[in-house]
Amino acid sequence: MLYQSTRNKNCKVSASQAIAQGISEEGGLFVPVSIPNIKATLPELAELDYRGRAKKILSLFLDDYTSEEIDECVEKAYAPEKFGGNEPAVLKKLDNNAYMLELWHGPTCAFKDMALQILPHLLTKALKKNYDEKTAVILVATSGDTGKAALEGFKDVDNTKIIVFYPDDGVSPMQLKQMNTQEGKNVCVCAVKGNFDDCQTQVKKIFTDKAIGELLHKNNMIFSSANSINWGRLLPQIVYYISAYLDLYNNGTIRSFDEKMNVVVPTGNFGNILAAYYAYRMGIPVGRFICASNSNNVLTDFICYGTYDRSRDFFTTISPSMDILVSSNLERLLFHLSGESDEMVKGWMKKLSETGKYSVDDKTFAEIKELFYGACCNDEETKAEIASVYSKYEYLSDTHTAVAINAFDKYIKVSGDISTPTVIASTASPYKFSASVLSALSEDSEGEEFEIVGKLSQLSSTSVPEAILELKDKEIRFKNKTDRDNIAGFVLKTLGVQ
Ligand SMILES: *Cc1c(COP(=O)(O)O)cnc(C)c1O
Repeated sequence: MLYQSTRNKNCKVSASQAIAQGISEEGGLFVPVSIPNIKATLPELAELDYRGRAKKILSLFLDDYTSEEIDECVEKAYAPEKFGGNEPAVLKKLDNNAYMLELWHGPTCAFKDMALQILPHLLTKALKKNYDEKTAVILVATSGDTGKAALEGFKDVDNTKIIVFYPDDGVSPMQLKQMNTQEGKNVCVCAVKGNFDDCQTQVKKIFTDKAIGELLHKNNMIFSSANSINWGRLLPQIVYYISAYLDLYNNGTIRSFDEKMNVVVPTGNFGNILAAYYAYRMGIPVGRFICASNSNNVLTDFICYGTYDRSRDFFTTISPSMDILVSSNLERLLFHLSGESDEMVKGWMKKLSETGKYSVDDKTFAEIKELFYGACCNDEETKAEIASVYSKYEYLSDTHTAVAINAFDKYIKVSGDISTPTVIASTASPYKFSASVLSALSEDSEGEEFEIVGKLSQLSSTSVPEAILELKDKEIRFKNKTDRDNIAGFVLKTLGVQ
């Protein structure tokens, strides 16, 4: 199957090229030219375990990988010892019809592991197929969780180097500690004086800078991306939505493959919710996609009014992985909903970068309205939601997941739709954001980070993930800091290719 760029349909590449390259040369994102339908195979997929399902689904999209290669990638990525058991994506009942899809049982305690444990395997195979002997330089812009998950996925992987940029003052203490203690010979971490959007814009620019690209080429290197602009990040995420639907079938919540489910996703860069949209396009019946945002509610407004306007105050919130004003993956959705119009997408993206905003046409907007519901909440509401969910269900949710549950509450109020089975993406362990979670539940929330972790564990009678506990005594390895305009310079210096 071929992949095309959202900004130029004539630019077509193979699956492995799309993964190796990460982004198209004119700045567009790769999407599959056709989306396979799996409706007829759902009964058969329902019989398989997670890895079995993953193998079948990935192979539909990765036709220039052999089935042995895909099996190997899946087995390595989702090995039981990596995700605390055989089931990497755990469905837990919250309410009659609402289920939490826990996606954070991997090595860094955030859902990003679901994709970033397998991406390095997919990428190294893609490099062998397309760019023999070259070293892939993975540049990552992170609002906190991608950085750590990518570092952990790529550490000591042959023929790769990884450099992660995060906003100084824009990540939680635990996220910071996870990143700057990272081990591995091929890793580097750097703070940027700016916010996530600054990091992402600069990194995207480097990917498409011809001069820098040639410099790397001469040194036998090639850039690639571990952000969700890379198709190799999105594809593994499609699997868990399909798998969750099959689990709902297996547990009797859904009785036929025509019944719909709703999906609620705490959203930043629009990657995770877009993966759910692809599952829908492949034949999973979805009623509504509920897009949850924090105070950086640019998507809520977009879904409501059809105008994307990034010119607004930027807030640093207690759900930092969603502190984003430019949601890159929305571009892919717009491509599909506009009747695959690369011209329109190109125009909107040009407007966005020149004027900070764009409005979609009526037809595209009508499609968005039909499929999506957007809601947002501030930090206070987030904390109140953590407290309320805990007291009602004894479910301990992290700050991002709480934003999703809050949006779901709002959706129910507006729609009265209480009968559709709903899957809510639970995207991080509460222990990654212990201080905020504890302060939502208790008056006694002071102390140093690991003291707070201990208090949260005691209060909730839940155990602290090993990956968090072991950070306590780890040495800080990285203290780099750079201006946002010097990210390219930092990259070249780190690679030694000035
Ligand atoms: C990255 C992240 C999100 C947002 O996901 P997107 O794919 O960027 O929309 C939500 N919650 C957590 C915990 C995250 O790490």
